[in-house]
Amino acid sequence: MLHDAIIVGGSFAGLSAALQLARARRNVLVIDAGLPRNRFASESHGVLGHDGKPGPQLLAEARQQLLAYPTAQIFSGRVSRVDAGEAGFVVEAEDGLRWFTGRRLLLATGVSDVLPGIPGLEARWGKTVVHCPYCHGYEIGGGAIGVLGTGPMSVHQAVMFADWGDVTLFAQGVVEVSAEEHALLAARKVKVESSPIAELQGVAPALEGALLQDGRRVAIKALLVGTQVRMGSPLAEALGCAFDDSPFGPIVRIDAWGMTSVAGVHAAGDMARVPHSITYATASGVAAGIGLHTSLITEDARRGETAAA
Ligand SMILES: Cc1cc2nc3c(=O)[nH]c(=O)nc-3n(C[C@H](O)[C@H](O)[C@H](O)COP(=O)(O)OP(=O)(O)OC[C@H]3O[C@@H](n4cnc5c(N)ncnc54)[C@H](O)[C@@H]3O)c2cc1C
Repeated sequence: MLHDAIIVGGSFAGLSAALQLARARRNVLVIDAGLPRNRFASESHGVLGHDGKPGPQLLAEARQQLLAYPTAQIFSGRVSRVDAGEAGFVVEAEDGLRWFTGRRLLLATGVSDVLPGIPGLEARWGKTVVHCPYCHGYEIGGGAIGVLGTGPMSVHQAVMFADWGDVTLFAQGVVEVSAEEHALLAARKVKVESSPIAELQGVAPALEGALLQDGRRVAIKALLVGTQVRMGSPLAEALGCAFDDSPFGPIVRIDAWGMTSVAGVHAAGDMARVPHSITYATASGVAAGIGLHTSLITEDARRGETAAA
């Protein structure tokens, strides 16, 4: 079967795009490996109408609603390769065990976080080590909290995080604080610690403090880490999509309707925009779904066809 669209990645961006296409009566296949970026957190926050719901519950409800449309299908598995051909795209899943064909391709394979190699950090990721204050800052409940210096955004993050608690910025030897920034941090009552963190302490996932390389211990109950990210799959690069730099790492270049630099290939979600959140990913999936649908309409009109025919 030639699908109108194959969507690789069936999380917030991919399912949003699929919903638009299914509602336009298009045949859409979503292929998903089932590893959304927020799987380390027990709750999702800041999502209008769903604040505090577990991520898996949000996605299960979205999948159920999508599958109510007769032209939508979901295949659980990993796409290992995509080839562009005359009629569209040939998509290989499960290392060659399954093949699918589609007129258009939409990539929504997300990003993965590159965690700093500090002992004790990974075991707390998504719990007491968080990536975003808007997602998890409120639940920390105030008190002593840290910001891990990872790059040029860290001062800004420390200034911001001060609305959620008493912040220490751990410069880690990678953040150089200018005189102007020192004044701003002082105005926000942020302390700056120059000795790098050697390990995080406490019974994980609880966090009690950071042991510094000079032997001192700073009590903190949560640590904000603005991670660098990498693509969730190599597919965009393999297809030859152009990339742009972002403060968090490379993202696929798209236009306002999710079109990449490669004909017929659309992209949405964390892999193609910043900043990152469920709502932003959902919105970009909507835009890419509509953009992809529009390109199908244009092609069909040229051939004298309609979706309902
Ligand atoms: C710990 C943590 C907690 C977070 N909490 C929140 C929060 O509370 N609120 C909020 O708004 N945001 C939160 N976020 C951000 C949010 O998770 C992301 O912005 C959002 O998941 C991005 O959606 P996406 O669809 O672009 O990508 P993802 O959700 O990452 O989904 C990508 C999907 O593509 C699949 N995939 C990848 N490669 C392939 C392949 N080759 N074949 C098939 N499938 C593939 C993956 O398995 C995955 O299912 C959190 C992030 C983290 C790291």
